[in-house]
Amino acid sequence: MKCSPTDVPAIEEIDIPAMQAKYRVERDKRIRSEGQKQYERPVDDFADEYEGDPHMPVEPREALSEDIDVAVLGAGLSGLMAGVHLRKAGVTNFRNIDHAGDFGGVWYWNRYPGIQCDNDAYCYLPMLEEMGFMPSQKFADGPEIYAYCQSIAERFELYEKALFHTLIKTLRWDASIRRWRITTDRGDDIRARFVVMANGLLNIPKLPGIPGIHEFKGKMFHTARWEYDYTGGSCENPVLDKLADKNVAIVGTGATAIQAIPHLGRHCKHLYVLQRTPSCVDIRRNPPTDPQWQASLKPGWQEERIENFHHAAMEAWLAPGEPDLICDFWTEISRNMQAELEAEGWPELSTEEFIRRREEMDYRVMERLRRRVESLVDDPATAESLKPYYRFLCKRPLSNETYLETFNLPNVTLIDVADTQGVEAMTETGFVHKGEEYDLDCMIFASGFEVTSDLERRWGFEAIEGRDGRSLYEDWAHGYKTLHGMMAHGFPNQFFVGYYQGGLNSTTTEQYGRQGHHIAWIIKHALDSELAVVEPSAEAQAAWIEHMRETAVDISAFQMECTPSYFNNEGEKDVDENGNERIRWYLGESYGPGWHAFEKLLADWREDGALEGMLTEQA
Ligand code: NDP
Repeated sequence: MKCSPTDVPAIEEIDIPAMQAKYRVERDKRIRSEGQKQYERPVDDFADEYEGDPHMPVEPREALSEDIDVAVLGAGLSGLMAGVHLRKAGVTNFRNIDHAGDFGGVWYWNRYPGIQCDNDAYCYLPMLEEMGFMPSQKFADGPEIYAYCQSIAERFELYEKALFHTLIKTLRWDASIRRWRITTDRGDDIRARFVVMANGLLNIPKLPGIPGIHEFKGKMFHTARWEYDYTGGSCENPVLDKLADKNVAIVGTGATAIQAIPHLGRHCKHLYVLQRTPSCVDIRRNPPTDPQWQASLKPGWQEERIENFHHAAMEAWLAPGEPDLICDFWTEISRNMQAELEAEGWPELSTEEFIRRREEMDYRVMERLRRRVESLVDDPATAESLKPYYRFLCKRPLSNETYLETFNLPNVTLIDVADTQGVEAMTETGFVHKGEEYDLDCMIFASGFEVTSDLERRWGFEAIEGRDGRSLYEDWAHGYKTLHGMMAHGFPNQFFVGYYQGGLNSTTTEQYGRQGHHIAWIIKHALDSELAVVEPSAEAQAAWIEHMRETAVDISAFQMECTPSYFNNEGEKDVDENGNERIRWYLGESYGPGWHAFEKLLADWREDGALEGMLTEQA
């Protein structure tokens, strides 16, 4: 079925200069001078929050002392994909090592009520055709994704050697044995020829540094460590019946919170939603997978779908006649643009004109979403607080069938903490807002993860030392320094999966898979060629960084206009070499010429077979 454009207000209905001014006021209200430092890691008296595992008991085991070929640090989707590609390349002597009790990463830890993937599951779940699996609905439930991760691990025999409930402490390159020495909280001494850093992006929960947070005597937990013992119910059956006599507050209204809030609203005696910035929340439309559609799919359909999503969402462009296979809120702007340009007979537009038209569509879509709030929320003041005033993609766009309606329940109160730049204070018994104290039994933090904070803080390893004790944390203190975003000079035989300096795909798992493939290729090549060491030369790395910078698409102006979040490093700024202010961008540098150009560059590099730009040492 053809995907239709959405019904958005006409541009004449929006006063763009006034709206721009409003967006800036809303942004400035929320920018905090401490930037990332406004958050704290859940350590010390919150240690159980992070170190503990509410899902599975940690079993005692003997410490290991061993030599292996590859240690894959992480068993989330990036570690899983690295493991799959190592297996596919014929490398077997490796282990995934993870703090969690199983494969799954975020899908292992996050079991809060209502957890679902916000991305089209037919793209997000990797290798569907190869695995012979089809998600049961467009936006899959968390438990289904977790189970799928387990089935991939089983299929590729990753369980055999996986080491769980093991937290990496230090990583040091030992030149005398030309291996990485890895120490863990379980007393292990693992000597690996290669290490793959698959340690994730959303793995370390963060807490807001609210004055008095440590004083609170009631129950507190982070959504990534949901405590069903306390709330009642389970992830599969989120009937939170133990909250029936409890006053509960939840901090945050991001992707996590909006999924949990409808369940909390349904079950708490009273729920306070402490919101600093509203999310934009569209209709969900999450139909079960249509068996007829499934039967109609031709081999290669998933790759085609991922490609289509990438065009519409990241390349911001659907060509004449190109279908919108994803057909949801992620692709709306491109879909609407395509329909309008088609109606105009595809006029020739300069890049500037195209960008202007897209920006107008952005204002129109955001206005549609604000009107949606008005139409669903009864109380006008609450509705106004729930309206998002920023550009689309300043924050992660969301969809939910019941979130906004939850604010019509008599036991749910929205507390708008924008004016105080966050929750004002906590006391022994609750929280304070504009001079008033609110008593609570429980405070839940849906306050996100360490995504763009300083590397040491967000990775949590005590040390990562390459040649001659060189610290990766110090080397990367002012930005990533890599070749292809996957290896670093001074850090032999070490590989990185994630967002560093390379091609960016709108499907994270596609990106992890391609990176896993490239890394496994290099490792296999090194093992077959009896190379003890592979490492980018300083020159090759410098040339790559130069190339990345020269070809970069500058999105700093857009980011500076955005409300603060991890998307723009909480608005923290640097001054560049030309004296221009720009956002300190720590989420990763994206390859300007695009995903396909990047993939071709890597394919050519492998095809050439000479490990160009690499220093090697024979075994
Ligand atoms: P986010 O970082 O997106 O949200 C954190 C929330 O906490 C924000 O609403 C933030 O407000 C609020 N907050 C932080 N500090 C304070 C404070 N001092 N006072 C009041 N509010 C505060 O975390 P999430 O866990 O929601 O999501 C993280 C990421 O995880 C998502 O962006 C997404 O990538 C992924 N995710 C994906 C899901 C999926 O696919 N289904 C589901 C859940 C998460 P403010 O915006 O003002 O900073």
